[in-house]
Amino acid sequence: MSSYKEVLKHAQRRMEEADRGEQAALLYLLELTNMEAHNLYMEFEQEMPEDIEKEYEAGIQRLLAGEPLGHVLGFEWFYGYRFKVNEDVLIPRPETEELVANVLAAYDEYFQGQQVTAADIGTGSGAIAISLKKEEENIHMLASDISEKAVMVAKENAANNDAVVSFLVGDMLIDRDIKLDILISNPPYIPNEEVMEDSVVNYEPHVALFGGEDGLKFYRVIFENAPKILKEKAFMAFEMGYNQKEALSSQKIFP
Ligand code: GLN
Repeated sequence: MSSYKEVLKHAQRRMEEADRGEQAALLYLLELTNMEAHNLYMEFEQEMPEDIEKEYEAGIQRLLAGEPLGHVLGFEWFYGYRFKVNEDVLIPRPETEELVANVLAAYDEYFQGQQVTAADIGTGSGAIAISLKKEEENIHMLASDISEKAVMVAKENAANNDAVVSFLVGDMLIDRDIKLDILISNPPYIPNEEVMEDSVVNYEPHVALFGGEDGLKFYRVIFENAPKILKEKAFMAFEMGYNQKEALSSQKIFP
């Protein structure tokens, strides 16, 4: 039998040695025991129940092998909401919360109080679309993904979070009779040949990560088709790679 403290320290040491970062060991323990950090520290010298210790150790083994914490837990937090994740969807990233916050600020600036129609293209887990709908009831939210399995996960997330979002499988940009006030996308934007961490490449869907030779393929498709589906007064918002701003804000994106 070991104390919470001993179990955590032992896990942190191994995570550190394996270069997986010790932080995930703590986050995992907090989620598994449903504790806040201050509760955990109060219990620190107490013995950890054996069944929890076993489950924790099994999860630590998966983390040591490189599996992302979201997969071990089966969910990830995003914008204060809980989203189911699995190998069919990209795990929502903290930086993408900025995209949501910026869209909400732009909505307030251009459309405050008005009913608008917005679409999230390549919705994956549905994190962006569902968070926007939760935060701004006036947005009629559409979301699409080319992956049917992803849309199944996104629908489940919408139901679990009690959000009304219309999902569709396929390419929303083509042959759709819709007119949007807001178009949002966090498309796959990693250049095909880029070297990435094994915990990303080995576990997350490549269809959600890689955006062609220069990573810009999906922005090209969106820019070419957007005029057909945008209203006259509308805005678009994207996540992009740290070094893609120049290409995206100039004509250089089109060879
Ligand atoms: N930000 C993600 C990563 O670095 C990539 C997300 C994307 O391609 N849209 O893993």
